[in-house]
Amino acid sequence: MAGKIRTPVDVADLAVTDGPGAESDMPSTHEVFNQPPVLAGYDVAADPAMLDALRREGAGWAEDGIRELGRLAGSARAQEWGRQANEHPPVLRTHDRFGHRLDEVEYHPAWHELMTVAVRHGLHAPPWRDPRPGAHVARAAGFYVWGTADAGHCCPISMTYAIVPALRHAPELAGRFEPLLATREYDFGLRPPGTKRGLLAGMSMTEKQGGSDVRANTTRAAPAGDGSYLLTGHKWFTSAPMGDLFLVLAQAPGGLSCFLLPRVLPDGSRNGMHLQRLKDKLGNRSNASAEVEYHEAAAWLVGDEGRGVRTIIEMVNMTRLDCVLGTATGMRAGVTLAAHHAAHRMAFGRKLVDQPLMANVLADLAIESEATTLAAFRLAGATDRAARGDDQEAAFRRLALAATKYWVCKRAPVHAAEALECLGGNGYVEESGMPRLYREAPLASIWEGSGNVAALDALRALTRQPETAEAFFAELDQAAGADRRLDQAIARLRKEVSDPAEERARWLAEAMALTLQGALLVRYGHPAVADAFAVSRLGDDAGWGRAYGTLPSGTDAAAIVSRATPEILPR
Ligand SMILES: Cc1cc2nc3c(=O)[nH]c(=O)nc-3n(C[C@H](O)[C@H](O)[C@H](O)COP(=O)(O)OP(=O)(O)OC[C@H]3O[C@@H](n4cnc5c(N)ncnc54)[C@H](O)[C@@H]3O)c2cc1C
Repeated sequence: MAGKIRTPVDVADLAVTDGPGAESDMPSTHEVFNQPPVLAGYDVAADPAMLDALRREGAGWAEDGIRELGRLAGSARAQEWGRQANEHPPVLRTHDRFGHRLDEVEYHPAWHELMTVAVRHGLHAPPWRDPRPGAHVARAAGFYVWGTADAGHCCPISMTYAIVPALRHAPELAGRFEPLLATREYDFGLRPPGTKRGLLAGMSMTEKQGGSDVRANTTRAAPAGDGSYLLTGHKWFTSAPMGDLFLVLAQAPGGLSCFLLPRVLPDGSRNGMHLQRLKDKLGNRSNASAEVEYHEAAAWLVGDEGRGVRTIIEMVNMTRLDCVLGTATGMRAGVTLAAHHAAHRMAFGRKLVDQPLMANVLADLAIESEATTLAAFRLAGATDRAARGDDQEAAFRRLALAATKYWVCKRAPVHAAEALECLGGNGYVEESGMPRLYREAPLASIWEGSGNVAALDALRALTRQPETAEAFFAELDQAAGADRRLDQAIARLRKEVSDPAEERARWLAEAMALTLQGALLVRYGHPAVADAFAVSRLGDDAGWGRAYGTLPSGTDAAAIVSRATPEILPR
């Protein structure tokens, strides 16, 4: 290697080829053994629950492309991009050396590689312009698979997907920008949106004094007299600030309203959107999240004045789906790493996976992961059908998404911690990939309606939109009679929803999500997974403890764990 500069790909290749027998000048003191092979060069999309769901929800036509993306996501190269993008987080450049404002964020080249793949595979806005049934499901599968490489860059990808239904409340703006939001070209840099080959979007709601209660927003929007508005104020969180277009909430004369704010104005000058700081975050470190101030920033109204929340909620409702998908990705990645380790590591004379208690832990993690994947894809299917005008599916999605988002995101940090522990001390070490998963895990629950807010939103749908409860129970009823424990859980839920109390909203959302997951597994899941889920999560006489790894005796753990154990592809 002397004299050769190592590129990211070289390092990645070394990660696979280095191992026992690699050349070294150091005399060896011992043989390294009983360490698992590096998990690289596998197909992330070789995921039976996901592939079945992809076909069932109408996107079987996308399978080849998803498999291709899965192989890339599981490659050493993509893993290296993910590592580098997180170990070299974005840097804010507020000013140039002469003191002029820049307001630019610099990213590591690995971030741009990740973004290029995501955009090329249409994981952002293209489904909105794709007439094929299943387009949103295909995109969901790509998002789920590719998120394994890095969660952070999925944030701008998700927001660019999500902006479209809200932007359509301003048909002229949508007509101008939607085609550019949906191109498959990643065109980074601050230039007038109309001159770029592809655009990315963001969302600015949260202010210092409130994120859940956005009615407290103080940013002001003054009519400029030419149809545009001038915004003055701040936002406390604005992720992916190098995006081209942002939906922003601000107080207009007619009340809280939604605006489209470009970073660069049509004449090429920078809009008055200034980046104050980047957040020093627990996880999600590849992605920049900025504090922003607006100094008479030009923006255009989307929807009517005073209807800002109603307008922007359409964007939030789409990013919520990605919170569920992203959580399913994290769980699958965690249990895959854990099952891989346990398949190779010996302790006390047996492989870990053959130790009954470890098999129980892994099976429990795998059940949680499959249940989350099934729910995520059912919601992606509902999104697809609702986008094509299916009101029943829209009503189902309204309630099921709020409840599912609440519950699966609550499960994520515990799931990640338990998956990490399967690797013992190695799991606590950064290069295992587990710490990154663990730090990311709480985020989806905070975004787009923190835990309580999501649970209260499910309650609101139940009480104010009875058609959502009808659609939800109609879905559950399709599984009626297939499993006694599920039938009992549905009956209990029916009783509880008849008298919903605010302080019970979390319990109710949890029960709704668990029953939905159970119904999906009973209808479509692997029998061993469905049975173990029903006995542990639904039965009121369950021998299930509160930690993972407490499934009752008789569970077919080997069958369940084999579904999460990755196969390294021949090179
Ligand atoms: C990494 C990261 C990136 C982000 N990116 C963006 C972005 O791009 N754009 C953006 O607009 N925001 C962004 N946010 C902000 C995020 O959406 C908010 O933090 C979130 O909505 C919560 O708002 P808050 O922080 O003001 O907390 P608060 O609203 O003060 O809530 C605090 C707690 O109170 C609970 N709570 C609130 N209301 C009730 C109630 N009625 N009953 C019971 N409990 C309640 C909440 O569930 C929460 O647990 C980001 C946040 C993070 C961490």
